[in-house]
Formats: sequence, structure tokens, C-alpha cells
Amino acid sequence: MFYRVIVDIQAKDVDRIFDYRSAEEISVGSRVTVPFGKKEIEGYVVGVSETTQVPLEKIKDVIRVVDSIPAITPEMLEVMHFMCARYHVTSATALRQFLPTEMRRGVVKESVLYAVTVNPEFDAQKFIATEKRAKKQAELLAVLLRGEAEFILSELRKNHGATVVNGLIDRGALLVAEKQKMRTPMKGLGAPTAPLTLKPMQETAIRKILTDERRTHLLFGVTGSGKTEVYLRLIEEAKARGKTAIMLVPEISLTPQMLQRLRSRFGDSVAILHSGLSAGERFDEWWRLRRGEATIAVGARSAVFAPLENVGIIIVDEEHDGSYQSDSNPRYFTKEIAEMRAEYNGCKLVLGSATPSVESYLLAKEGTYQMVTMPSRVNTRPLPEMIFADMRKEVKSGNHTLFSSVLKTEMENALSEGNQVILFLNRRGYSSFVQCRTCGYVATCEDCDVSLTYHAKSARLKCHYCGAQYRMPSACPSCGAKLEFGNVGTERVCMELNQLFPNAKVLRMDNDTTQNKEGHYRILKAFSGREADILVGTQMIAKGHDFPMVTLVGVLDADMELHFSDYRSGERTFQLVTQVAGRSGRAERAGKVVLQTFTPENYVLDFAKRYDYVGMCESELALRRETLFPPFCTILRILVSGEDERKTIEVIRKIYDGVAAVYDRNKEDFLFFHKSKAPLFRLQNKYRYQILMRVNPNNRSVIDEIYQVALPAATATEQVIVEENPKNMN
Ligand code: ADP
Ligand code: ZN
Repeated sequence: MFYRVIVDIQAKDVDRIFDYRSAEEISVGSRVTVPFGKKEIEGYVVGVSETTQVPLEKIKDVIRVVDSIPAITPEMLEVMHFMCARYHVTSATALRQFLPTEMRRGVVKESVLYAVTVNPEFDAQKFIATEKRAKKQAELLAVLLRGEAEFILSELRKNHGATVVNGLIDRGALLVAEKQKMRTPMKGLGAPTAPLTLKPMQETAIRKILTDERRTHLLFGVTGSGKTEVYLRLIEEAKARGKTAIMLVPEISLTPQMLQRLRSRFGDSVAILHSGLSAGERFDEWWRLRRGEATIAVGARSAVFAPLENVGIIIVDEEHDGSYQSDSNPRYFTKEIAEMRAEYNGCKLVLGSATPSVESYLLAKEGTYQMVTMPSRVNTRPLPEMIFADMRKEVKSGNHTLFSSVLKTEMENALSEGNQVILFLNRRGYSSFVQCRTCGYVATCEDCDVSLTYHAKSARLKCHYCGAQYRMPSACPSCGAKLEFGNVGTERVCMELNQLFPNAKVLRMDNDTTQNKEGHYRILKAFSGREADILVGTQMIAKGHDFPMVTLVGVLDADMELHFSDYRSGERTFQLVTQVAGRSGRAERAGKVVLQTFTPENYVLDFAKRYDYVGMCESELALRRETLFPPFCTILRILVSGEDERKTIEVIRKIYDGVAAVYDRNKEDFLFFHKSKAPLFRLQNKYRYQILMRVNPNNRSVIDEIYQVALPAATATEQVIVEENPKNMN
């Protein structure tokens, strides 16, 4: 028999199938070690054949099979083919998504422990009663007989001495068995929660999802409408049919509550796949899923590759979240993979959000997805009241602190009543917009209606969508006041809070405070355990969390996201504001939200204030249809980077000529096509050039052609990246 093997090397020139021979039978999907050139490398068996095209004397033998059961399932191979065609990545790159990195080349192994039991065939009573020379052994055996059924060898040796324990083993009094030790992530989630009695709205949503024939369902439920319970019931339903389930949550909101609810309902059948786990934990959780010991996978983006078979439901919570789009190789869209897997398994895909992406909203409106709505909170609790604080007035009246007077008052009230407060400031936006604090003017592009990014080095304002450049005005063009950059961060907020409320305990949650293992989890647990009164954080505090004592949310700079030079900034602002507002007043006590803004008349904030998601989506879609932005076009960006500027330019020129040829043949599919330096021209000692295009989203073959023109131009020193609707245009 000949075994068809994909080798675990990501390079394009070895992205094909190699034939090997083996005397022993190997199952398809097995990881194997094979000779390759002068080396030994890992590979995956993707097929078996009685014949081969390769001359027999050239065929080498498989060295060994790595795992006792095949790591790769037939479904993974299907997804691999899909990814190769869709994202133009190599088979090895696609397959690697399915395996934790720790698994490759045996970096992490199962951790083994030895379990000790008293041998029932050994006459322990007689030994204890009569033994004269090995008194210590007799004593220990007596202790063990009274104890638990099973002991751990290393602990016995530590507590009672290795000689004594070994003596009993040699005598045959104790039996030793090898056992796999499971490394379980995020233990100790607190008391289990009882299953809830469904509300009529939840029951209706579940029935609609289960009875409608469509593959994909958009669960559009306001914050606090009880989406989690709907997910749990859908998972339960799949489980009852003997199926498995995949539940995805945004990278940063794998919340204790969510895990607690899942674990308390489904116990050990839940496995977590998350970048925050230790290597050993990830390894063990992966194998529990692959072996079928765990049947529910929960995790961030990468959990869409969970090694489950027989999938009965896939859930994507907070489906609008940016973390579902991968921005490193392979640049995949989680929802596309989820849809593909749902198709393969013949199961349903549920996308849930209080603020669905406009793309999903459009698909649901057109009927491709079923739209399932939950328009009110559980127990018809009101959504929190939104109060605007006009920061222009604050500045005018001499308040130059970060907190408006209304926010200060509301904070005093909330704290004095023993409630908790969340303050939100997304500091990612710093220095990336220019604003007049007197009249609210913001510099925007003349052609694109997106705000401009200030580049300090050239002292120019740039549009990231058309490449246009503008001089930085010396003063506000509309009122003549001084222009300023927004760059206040969460750290400064905490410092000012300490002065303003010296008795309040403040926690901060952002990239700087969550670097260590389970960092998010620890902060969230501390806050829900009432160890602090105020939680200050970036967008990672915005979603998912359910803190019953929070009655006030302050959005310190509601404009921040608006001035990103990104066609999605309006949508993102609405989503962020709505999500973070949704943390307030979720339990008995009613909630409030204070939105600090320099542009209270902005239409996006106005929609947010009125919780008018549909209005926002409709106006956003109208705008994008008019200006031909996604989903009415696909933005393609080819980025070439290299340390040698001349060689980098050579590569981008070559690609440009190739793209120009594609353009000549398909002019009607192009809206825009432009070559320039990348906005972040030098990054990590590399020069960066880009080609930006806006193309017809419905003509996949043109998009594929562009990949095919661009990717092969990469050299050993010049990197080429193709991105679709990139999240970040630096
Ligand atoms: P969402 O995810 O839609 O924002 P959650 O699922 O977190 O909302 O639910 C909001 C709150 O309502 C939670 O505290 C939850 O425990 C509670 N809840 C949800 N469903 C029910 C129910 N059927 N009965 C009672 N309380 C519920
Ligand atoms: Zn522009």
C-alpha cells in the first residue's frame, strides 16, 4: 500500500502530495513521521492507494505513526480544501489550524500519572497482623486500606517515603496503573447556576431556529434579552440527538459567567479552546474533544477548528465582533468556516448579537438567513437611559477634566448607593484623529467621507481609503480654535479617579493589565466578586459580561471610534456604545449610561441613544450602497514588505503590472485601483508598499486572479500579503 502524505511545511513549492510506503496499515488522517530530503518531518496521511506514479525505487518508508488515533478527520480535509481554494493558502497552513501548535513535533505530550490501589488478591490483613521485619510497610498498608480507593504514586512516595512504598509494590501488595492526568483550564468557577425556566420570547426564538429550514439564523436580541439561555438550550437539543456542539465567543469575552453556565449545565463535556490556556491544557482539551470525551467546544475564533465530528449546532456569539476576522496568516473569516462546517454536518449555524454586523443584517433582511428577534430584556427590564454629556459645553465652562459634571454626579450617586460603575475608554484610537474641542470639527476626506489620520512624521492628514493627502491645518478651519489630538488613555483615567474618589476601589482592564495567563478572567472575577467599585477598561469590557450590581456606565469618549479612517467606524461606534451600555442595569436596579461627546448631533450617536439598531443599519447600508463600500464592494489590499526598498518596489511593480492585466480584462468589476506607499511606510525595519482595490464582491474569479497574480511574486526576502476588507489599514 502507498500512503499519500501532506508534509507539514508551509512553503508553496512543497504544497502537494508525496507518496510513502508502509508495511503496517495506517488510517487516513494519521499524523506520521516521514523522511523528507535529509530530514525527518511530520506529515498527514490524506489517502491510501494501491498504485503510485512515482518510480518504486524512489519511494521511502513511513518512519512512524505519531498518534494512536488519527488526528485529522475527513471533515478537516474538506475544510482544508475549502481554505486552500478560498484563501489561497497551502494545505499545511490550513491543516495547522486544526492542531494546537504544541502538538506539532511533540513539544507537549500527555502528562501521565501513576495511580496506586491495594491489590485485592494480596492478603493484606494477614500481612498487617503478622509482619515483623517490614513494620513500616505494614503500617502504611493499614492506612491505605482505610483510605480512598486510589492514591497517586508520587504523593505516596513523598508522604511515606519511597522505600516503604516501593517495598509494598515489590511485594505485590499494591498495584500501579498508568493514567492520563488532565490539565483542566479555569477551574473553580464558583457555584453552579440552575437552569432557567424559559421566557416566552426565548421559547419562540428556539422554536423558530429549530423549525426553519435555513442553514443560518441571526439571533438579534437586545443586551440582556437572555441569548445565553437560548444557546444552552440549542446545545442541549443537539446533545440529546447524540450530536456535538461548537460555541464561539469573542477573543476577549470568554467570560467566567459564560463558562460557569456551560460547565454547570454540561459538566466535563465542555472543553475550552483558547489562546490564554497553557500549552498542556490546550493539548489535553484538544484530545478530549478529538477522542469524544468532551462534546462541546467553547472558545474564541480558533475554536471554529475544534476537532469534533458529528456537529449538531454551531453558535457564534457577538457575531459582529472584529476578532472573528483573522488578521494573520491564514486570513480567514470565522463565519465562512463555520458556515462550511455547518453545511458539511447538515446542522444549523446561529449568529447572535445585540448589534449584528450590517453584512449579516442585510443577509437576514434579504432572507438568506432567518431573522430571529428578541426585542426586550428578560422580565421586561428597561434598557438603561442614555444621557448625553456635551463636552463642548464642559470645556466652555472651564471643566478640563476627563469627567463631565453629569458623569461625576451620577458616579457619586451610584457609589453612595453601593452600586458598581463601569467606565469605558477605547484608547486604541489615540493620535489617529484631529478634532476641534470648541466646535466639534473633525478633519475628513473630501472624496471618501471618512475621517483623516494624522501622520506626525510628514505632518500630513491622510485618507487610508483613497490615498489622498491633506495639509494639517494650523487651526480649526471652521472656527479658528486650536486643533487637538485625542490621546487620553485608561491609565490616566484611573489616576484622575483616585483623586476624585479616593475611597473607591478601581480596577483597570486593558491590554496592559491582562497580559498574564487568565488575566481577563481574574479581573472580571474580582469585579463580579465586588472587590472593586469601578472598572475602567477598553473594548474588552464592552461585551458579554453580566454584572448585576452595575447601574452606571460612562462612555468617556463616545467620538473616539468615529474618527477612525475606516468605513466601518460608524457601525463600530454604534456597536461599542450599545454593547457597553448594555452592561448597565441588568438586574433589579435600573441602569443609566452617560455618553461624553463633542458631537452629540452625530447621527450614529443619535441612533445609539434611541437604541435604534435597524435605523442605524438602514442608514449605514444606504450610505455604503451609494459610495460602494462593503458589502457592496470588496476592498482588496496587496501589501509588499521588505528590508531592501529597491527590491520591494520591484516586487510591487511586478504585481501592479499583473493586476493591471486583470483590470484590463475585467474593467467593469473594478471600482478603484491604486498603488502607493502603505500609510505605515516603515514597520519593523521593513518598507511597505501597497496596492488598494475596490472590486465587485460577486465576481470571485477576479478576486482569485488577484491572489494568483500577487502571491507568487513573494521572494525569500519580500513578503506579500493579500487582505480582503482588512480590519486595519496601516
Ligand atoms: P444577553 O446575552 O442576551 O445579553 P443574558 O443571556 O446574559 O443576556 O441574560 C441576561 C440576564 O437575564 C442574565 O442575568 C440571565 O441570568 C437572566 N435570564 C436569562 N434568561 C432568563 C430566564 N428565562 N429567566 C430568568 N432570568 C433569565
Ligand atoms: Zn479618501
